[in-house]
Amino acid sequence: MVKEKGADLMAQLSGKSIYLTGGASGIGRAVTEAFIKEGAAVTILDKSPVGLQELKQQFGEKVQCIEGDVTVYEDHVRAVETAVEFFGKLDVFVANAGVFDGFAKFEHVTPEAMSAAYDLLMDINVKGYFNGARASVAELKKTSGNMIFTVSGAGYYPDGGGVWYTASKHAQIGLMRQLAFELAPEVRVNAVAPGGTLTALHVIPPLEPFVKIVDNDTKEKSIKKRNPLQIAMKSEDHVGAYILLASDQARAITGEVISSDGGLAVRGL
Ligand code: NAD
Repeated sequence: MVKEKGADLMAQLSGKSIYLTGGASGIGRAVTEAFIKEGAAVTILDKSPVGLQELKQQFGEKVQCIEGDVTVYEDHVRAVETAVEFFGKLDVFVANAGVFDGFAKFEHVTPEAMSAAYDLLMDINVKGYFNGARASVAELKKTSGNMIFTVSGAGYYPDGGGVWYTASKHAQIGLMRQLAFELAPEVRVNAVAPGGTLTALHVIPPLEPFVKIVDNDTKEKSIKKRNPLQIAMKSEDHVGAYILLASDQARAITGEVISSDGGLAVRGL
């Protein structure tokens, strides 16, 4: 029998139901698009109503959009309930929504601003990941599912942010490893560590007066200079790692970080 060209190319996430935070922009948006192309349905929690509206227009019944805040546990519960109600189950949770500290140098910032920055940034970047994992775990156990955390080169190396961003990305890796240990053998837990990427990643308000906000051209040049492959990375450059970890091809992988950073391990940041 003659096979149609492309007939062997199976979608890798066919029939999977995925819950992702921060899908309205940047890396989360590119990953959402890639997941849907691979056959998944995606439920998204984000605080941006405009971004969510755009997603709904683009993807229709393949997405469910929840406006909310990752620091609020009940918002994750709503998202998980929505995923199960509309798509029948939950296979994957992706913790991705995050904020930045703009490389704020700790000696240049008042202790009061540093304290406010800690509360805001750690709440979103660390407690936000914990909240989503906790709200998803019971449904993921039913499907032998998995979790993926968006971490960063700043989870390994200095100078990928200031103290709070770097500490938050180290903490996310610790959280991922401990969960991989506690949830085996039922649920796999892994991470993707993107390097500097051209997105709209926000500097939190308490630190804005203390940092230089750079334009996209400057950002592009600096990202290129900092990684051995000299790539000014775009969100789409990272999606392959998420597809692999979410898929059944990765059934032997847990507690692992895939770096997608232009080769920072070769030279550091
Ligand atoms: P982005 O700003 O383009 O996207 C982040 C999304 O998270 C936005 O849609 C935003 O509305 C949402 N969000 C922020 N705070 C939220 C909250 N409290 N509740 C709900 N939603 C919230 O930024 P991005 O660069 O795509 O960042 C995504 C992840 O990638 C973050 O964890 C970030 O730390 C990580 N990362 C980014 C880079 C980079 O250089 N851009 C590098 C490595 C890792």
